[in-house]
Amino acid sequence: MSRTKYIFVLGGVASSLGKGIISASLAKLLQSRGFSVALQKLDPYINVDPGTLNPYEHGECYVTEDGAETDLDLGHYERFSNVPTSQANNVTTGSIYQTVIEKERKGDYLGHTVQVIPHITDEIKRRIMLLGNTGKYDFVITEIGGTVGDIESLPYIETVRQMRWELGRDCCVIHLTLVPYLSAAGELKTKPTQHSVKTLLESGVQPDIIVCRTERPLYPGLKDKIALFCNVETSSVIESLDAKTIYEVPIMMRQENLDAEVLRKTMMPLDNQPDLKKWEEFLYKLSNPSDEVTIGLVGKYVELKDAYKSINESFIHASAENECKVNVKLIHSEHIENSNVEKTLEGLQGILVAPGFGERGIEGKISAINFARTRMIPFFGICLGMQCAVIEFARSVLDLRSAHSTEMNPNTKFPVIDLMEEQKKIKGMGGTMRLGTYPCKLNKGSKVYEIYQTMNISERHRHRYEFNNAYMVDFENAGMVAAGINPEDNLVEIVEIPDHPWFVGVQFHPEYKSTVAKPHPLFVDFIKAAMEYKAKKEK
Ligand code: GLN
Repeated sequence: MSRTKYIFVLGGVASSLGKGIISASLAKLLQSRGFSVALQKLDPYINVDPGTLNPYEHGECYVTEDGAETDLDLGHYERFSNVPTSQANNVTTGSIYQTVIEKERKGDYLGHTVQVIPHITDEIKRRIMLLGNTGKYDFVITEIGGTVGDIESLPYIETVRQMRWELGRDCCVIHLTLVPYLSAAGELKTKPTQHSVKTLLESGVQPDIIVCRTERPLYPGLKDKIALFCNVETSSVIESLDAKTIYEVPIMMRQENLDAEVLRKTMMPLDNQPDLKKWEEFLYKLSNPSDEVTIGLVGKYVELKDAYKSINESFIHASAENECKVNVKLIHSEHIENSNVEKTLEGLQGILVAPGFGERGIEGKISAINFARTRMIPFFGICLGMQCAVIEFARSVLDLRSAHSTEMNPNTKFPVIDLMEEQKKIKGMGGTMRLGTYPCKLNKGSKVYEIYQTMNISERHRHRYEFNNAYMVDFENAGMVAAGINPEDNLVEIVEIPDHPWFVGVQFHPEYKSTVAKPHPLFVDFIKAAMEYKAKKEK
């Protein structure tokens, strides 16, 4: 194999232009030409990882197989490329400094002054090369968070400058900018792009390719103009129009030749054409549904687009698989009460209660579950959603009226959800939950066994509390069963109500593992159940 090529994706002009989607789309295109690709995100904030950030700050926290709490862009990487990411795929300034300071304390710098250049930039470089040095990848695509010109991005841009200089054609810099449309002038404006490239040039970085995010097609001559002002070839100016769905972006980037341009710049063979048949099939099914259902997503972060990113994307994958449009109705758990639950949830064909932490909105979640359980509406509980299902069952069916999780009420008389033994001695918050992949053994005869079609599964976790096994017999006798158990420590991973058409609560997060190539079976089957529920109701 030839040496690994390093591709950097930097953003300019504004944030939220979709660097993650462009990176993931490029990865998909290179992959579909037979290359192996790793994707990585460098985040300039000082948190060691995003695990301690609340969703208002940073959207969803995405968890990898090896238990890293990472940026949600890693979710896009996996959903597009179907390759699992790991700790090495997400780096923050906090983690860089932590390593450098630990080395300094050990005396590794032998009396030298420790500085941003070279020590911090060397550590950034080491983290980038870590993936390339595995020898497994033709390409490592590294997305740099933030926007060119930010103070905190400077060490990263400097690292890009050094690597571009050291690696020559084994390295390529893509700059994603915004070309805004001014309606008063009736024109698309290239000046912000020119300025952004100038800012990059001040740091010694000349982009090789400029991707222009725009809400209107770039009219003839505009690419030439950007090329002239920004020292790139016209073929290296790529239009990135707003897309109907993020999953269209690889196709759009293919039409704009982004992949070919990267291959040309890095002197890689262009002989293999991308094979996007499966991807196109997925898009076709997504846009030609023959049915439609509405699912209520009950959570406390509903005003935030990115808080339940992976759940929303999993619904899209399940939608294509079932050829059924899935409307996700976000319902604020704080707004649900026993008195309005019927009105709030009527007309839904399925209810998903979301993961979460803390007390806020908890009673609304429990009311929603009671509604789904007693009205026989398909119900899917994820992590806190599963724990709430257990609490609801304890209160309404076992008649343990004050049952709760000790997370919300440490003094509850009936702690049906309790802190895991291994969590009891933990004091620090960062990276200390039960994180990452654990095995789970399914009960033959359970619904989940039917769905997964196998007895042994593994799924990703992010929690501190668990089903309290002291109550197991009472629950099972009353009709809520443990359908999946961790075979090593007996933790309940899945609860089910066999007498209900579809009532499944999972302690893990299936949404982290759903990809375009492999939609998650639980989401697929949940939508199927919603379609059946709808058909039955219509009869
Ligand atoms: N707060 C719960 C726990 O820590 C659930 C966590 C979650 O939903 N991710 O166990």
